[in-house]
Amino acid sequence: MKDIKSIDRQYVMNTYARFDLLIESGKGAVCRDDEGKEYIDFTSGIGVNCLGWCDDEWADAVSAQAHRLNHTSNLYFTEPCAALAQKLCERTGYSKVFFGNSGAEANEGAIKLARKYSYDKYGEGRSKVVTLVNSFHGRTISTLSATGQDGYHKWFFPFTEGFEYVASGDVKALANALDGACALIVEFVQGEGGVVALDRDFVAEAYAMCTAKDVLFIADEVQTGMGRTGRLLASEHFGVKPDVTTLAKGLGGGLPIGAVLAGEKAVSTLGAGMHGSTFGGNPVVCAGANVVLDRLDDKLLADVTRKGEYIRLRLESCEGVASVGGLGMMVGVLPKRKKAADIAKEAIGRGLLVLTAKDRVRLLPPLTIDAVALEKGMDILTEILKG
Ligand SMILES: *Cc1c(COP(=O)(O)O)cnc(C)c1O
Repeated sequence: MKDIKSIDRQYVMNTYARFDLLIESGKGAVCRDDEGKEYIDFTSGIGVNCLGWCDDEWADAVSAQAHRLNHTSNLYFTEPCAALAQKLCERTGYSKVFFGNSGAEANEGAIKLARKYSYDKYGEGRSKVVTLVNSFHGRTISTLSATGQDGYHKWFFPFTEGFEYVASGDVKALANALDGACALIVEFVQGEGGVVALDRDFVAEAYAMCTAKDVLFIADEVQTGMGRTGRLLASEHFGVKPDVTTLAKGLGGGLPIGAVLAGEKAVSTLGAGMHGSTFGGNPVVCAGANVVLDRLDDKLLADVTRKGEYIRLRLESCEGVASVGGLGMMVGVLPKRKKAADIAKEAIGRGLLVLTAKDRVRLLPPLTIDAVALEKGMDILTEILKG
């Protein structure tokens, strides 16, 4: 057969600057390339494989479900979808959930929900959605609009109207922007923006302002959710209960899923025929997500906190590190000497996969990574950072 990399380069649209690495298989926190070389994974497929590669329990549930019932459409009830919705609501305190296929789709759903909520109560003229500078909310036309980074607002005009950006921490600007708004969307830790955690006091003030003005507070937990920060939802660290939370990445443990969680305020905003998704709540995907939620118990969450502290300790005592940011096992490292992109490339050569976000090296290891792989990965990374 012809070289896989050159086939891919010829036939897959070149929207990704792929690393020169063909991954063939993986187990736990280690994967193998086409020559049998092993790599320790600090990426989780960008925060997706929270149980690591091909977790046995997850793979068994997914394959059993694939043999039983693959897809029904949302015209009918299925057990895995109902079970997942119940579990998610019971664990998070939300009332209802809408299932889609991705983070961007979840955020689109949340934006639609917020605009409808406001329209129902106040009529037209309150459609504005406020987001933060340096945020990332997805790649669709509307979620690009929601993304508070100029670099994403090119080429694809006209973008969806009605978005305004406020610098994180600027309470005055936020107060002004919230006039005429139906929603504020925040990431508690800005992932693509460089793994930057929001200030706790700013979050508290923003939340209070939204509540006072009846503006929906929407948490984009596509990356921070599902145990990544040591809590099921990152909002728990900030002591707030967003009106709406979106999830995706880690929720499916490796299969595409997105979710919009709505609290009491917005629970009946979207009715029959107002929103939908062909694949949303797919039984096979939900079977995997059910395993993810079951496994994310207090013990695993405590492990995440502990492992996150270990990662931070190793980095803070490494001389090649300028600063360390993030929360739990979502870590951003500002290197002193090397460029983040060069570090990621060098890491591949040494058998370690890491991510970048802006000028940071971004680490999102599988939540289940064992101590041996974690230590070995940190040895490799700190050596690179020092060198
Ligand atoms: C990845 C990400 C998205 C987009 O998710 P997709 O599944 O790629 O559409 C949206 N918001 C945040 C915070 C993300 O990290």
